[in-house]
Amino acid sequence: MTLWWGEPWPRPDFRASVCADDAQRVEVPVGEPCARCGLAVGGGDQGVSLAHLGEDGQLGRSHFTIECFLREVVPEPLVSEVIDQMRKDPGPDGLGVWA
Ligand SMILES: [Zn+2]
Repeated sequence: MTLWWGEPWPRPDFRASVCADDAQRVEVPVGEPCARCGLAVGGGDQGVSLAHLGEDGQLGRSHFTIECFLREVVPEPLVSEVIDQMRKDPGPDGLGVWA
């Protein structure tokens, strides 16, 4: 299950499916490293936490800020543009690459 944290995106009044359910919303993992860039998550960040199997065989969670999560699927030069565009105009279903 994908958990999410921070303010809903792209906008609080128009949510992507991944952050549509408040039952899957968790506390922002402040200070935990982002699994992609390694930077500590800040209190104002938005993102997701994915389940993964650790080297010790224990189930853990990897945290990604939403920007880094997008970087997994969108070429780097387009990430800011995609985020800006989605905030301005989420499109007819508001999902796009956020699904
Ligand atoms: Zn990151």
